[in-house]
Amino acid sequence: ETTVEPTHHATPCRRIILFPLPVQGHLGPMLQLASILHTQGFKIIIIHAEQNKPNHSDYPHFTFKPIADGFSDIGNHMPEKPDPSFYITYLNEHCANSFRDCLARLLVEPNEPPVACLITDAEYYITQEIADSLKVPRVVFWACNIVSLLVYRDLSFFYEKGYFNLTTKDPEYEVSVPEYPFLKVKDVIKISKTPYRMGKYLTKVMKQVNASSGIIWNSFNEPEEAILKTLSHDFPIPRFTLGPLQKYLPSSTLDIIFEQDRTFFSWLDAQAPKSVIYVSFGSLARITKSEFQEVAYGLTDIGIPFLWVVRQGMVEGSEWIECLPEKFLEEVGDRGRIVKWCPQKEVLAHDAIGCFWTHSGWNSTLEGICDGVPMICSPSDVGQPIIARYVSDVWKIGILLENGLERDGIKRVVKRLMLDKEGEDIRSRINILKEKVNISFQEGGSSRRSLKSLVDYILSGWN
Ligand code: UDP
Repeated sequence: ETTVEPTHHATPCRRIILFPLPVQGHLGPMLQLASILHTQGFKIIIIHAEQNKPNHSDYPHFTFKPIADGFSDIGNHMPEKPDPSFYITYLNEHCANSFRDCLARLLVEPNEPPVACLITDAEYYITQEIADSLKVPRVVFWACNIVSLLVYRDLSFFYEKGYFNLTTKDPEYEVSVPEYPFLKVKDVIKISKTPYRMGKYLTKVMKQVNASSGIIWNSFNEPEEAILKTLSHDFPIPRFTLGPLQKYLPSSTLDIIFEQDRTFFSWLDAQAPKSVIYVSFGSLARITKSEFQEVAYGLTDIGIPFLWVVRQGMVEGSEWIECLPEKFLEEVGDRGRIVKWCPQKEVLAHDAIGCFWTHSGWNSTLEGICDGVPMICSPSDVGQPIIARYVSDVWKIGILLENGLERDGIKRVVKRLMLDKEGEDIRSRINILKEKVNISFQEGGSSRRSLKSLVDYILSGWN
């Protein structure tokens, strides 16, 4: 994978304050965004929660301002079914005061250049009112794809429509969503197990996205060109599509939370080109013991080399890999490797990788596209079912495991992707998309133009 150094600019000095959400898939790309803006001449300040804090010494040219987040006390507030909306709402509520104080102090810091804008994760919905009251423009960062934003906005509507009462036996379960014909009703249902709470939370987020001064996506134009038009109607705020952000600077994967294992690289180097399946379900998704065992049986039966990331705590009720089927390791022998965490971008760029079995997180999907690695999709929740549907049915750069993690389905899909003609077609389509990413970064390309217009916008008229 090639990276693109943005042209450095000595713009009139301004500060930009960023406030990322403390989870790997949001913090990583926002730090990349900060690095890109730094190359454009801005001074960077990162306000961050104490939870999962970035490693300050990796960014000597940034100023970091940790704020109290109340996370140490979260155990006393746990609902019965904690979901992403619970955690992020908690964070919003417990960061509100410390964030306001921190921002207010930064705005009046003596001998510092003016603050041009605040960029927060879109899901920090409390920050809009605070920014308004302190008269600083807020631009939001959206860490997922574009369709997910629209579907999230409509989640309460889908809840009212009764989608979440449907079961696999109902005929409506398999049909298309009228408002989003590419999506199936079951994809929407998989977004959340607590749709009422999630819908209310997302409604708050979207209201504040609409009230913001602009929105930045970690994406490029091509995959979602059609939906971008709907978006300009529904969210009439300036939009910047300057991704995939990881294409810019030649930085390694940002590891905030997990320690990387690199010991498997000598094994990977010894594998034939495009022969290995790389399996990873991201930084948050959890699977049941029986799903874990089905993956293991699938990997045993297919007889293809694999590198499998099993995070500690990923399997419900297990520390790590205790519940692997008996004899798994013996049967697999040197054909496979299990690691706790790896430098994923480096792995995907490796010649030996032939396919990426992913949970369809947005960062992972973009990374797969940038390296032209066809995907098998096993989405868990939130945006993943939507992304997986697009990967498989719209962009046709991967195959969705429609029936979840189950060994026969796994074997069939791996065969289609790694051995059949269908797999070759998928590989050539993802390579075309990869080429489109490269074009978007060339002189005059869409991502480059979007970065320039973001910088111009940030500098225009404010302060
Ligand atoms: N990742 C990694 N090593 C691993 C697994 C994942 O570096 O072993 C990185 C991956 O490259 C991606 C991020 O973790 O950048 C996961 O983000 P994504 O949006 O795909 O999923 P999330 O973790 O937010 O569900």
